[in-house]
Amino acid sequence: MSARAVLAFGMTLILFLGACGERKSDGPSKAAAPSPHASAPPSPKPSPPPPKPSVAPKPTKITPAPLRPLPHKLPEGLRRSTGVRAVALTFDDGPDPVWTPKILDQLRRAKAKATFCVVGTRAREYPELVARIVREGHQLCNHSWRHDMDLARRSTAEIRADLTRTNRAIQAAAPGAKVPFYRQPGGRWSARVVAVSKQLGMQSLHWRVDPQDWDKPTSTTIKRRVNGAVRPGAVVLLHDGGGNRAATIAACAHLIGALKRHYGLVRLT
Ligand SMILES: [Zn+2]
Repeated sequence: MSARAVLAFGMTLILFLGACGERKSDGPSKAAAPSPHASAPPSPKPSPPPPKPSVAPKPTKITPAPLRPLPHKLPEGLRRSTGVRAVALTFDDGPDPVWTPKILDQLRRAKAKATFCVVGTRAREYPELVARIVREGHQLCNHSWRHDMDLARRSTAEIRADLTRTNRAIQAAAPGAKVPFYRQPGGRWSARVVAVSKQLGMQSLHWRVDPQDWDKPTSTTIKRRVNGAVRPGAVVLLHDGGGNRAATIAACAHLIGALKRHYGLVRLT
């Protein structure tokens, strides 16, 4: 055989073996790939999973169940009015060492009472402010341990643990104080959280008037929104914590006196 003939034989052999290899391959190949325009072949049945190893499986980590979306409609049983002509001011997300004393000073000067929806971690951090709220005759409301916007979607056990822990922190700050209300952060209620707060002796406190002071409008806007929406018996939502509340404080300098004159102000009972 000439060198040329050997080379030609070798090339033929390589091509032949290459073609065999391609036919044996399970993976996708250019020749086997269907045209994008061709109709898809019936998909083969998935192969059964490999047998499980006989060693004991590791304990699986318990992950909380995914939270379902809340219904759009508010559940039954929410308190939104005072039941009398007088209106109620409610202050959420405190106690705060800067803003809560200013609100308390304004209320004291006006001889008016209000309701404070306190967050458990903040009650633990500023117990003297919780004690002052109670000492000056205001009402307390549980606003969850750490302002959990999703609390209403959690399990009954988780909700109960959260609300109980919050009440314990409040009562450690103000021994013997009653906490007759619960307010769900964000107003994101569920029938379940209403039921648990009831079991724990708390009414579910919503509101009638929300000037959205958490969104940092000016004090003029807060005043206009409250004055425009307030009616006899309204529960008004304001904030003494959770951010800079200078505009709320400035609005309250007017609102506390004006609402007291027109309607009267009561702490909720
Ligand atoms: Zn809040």
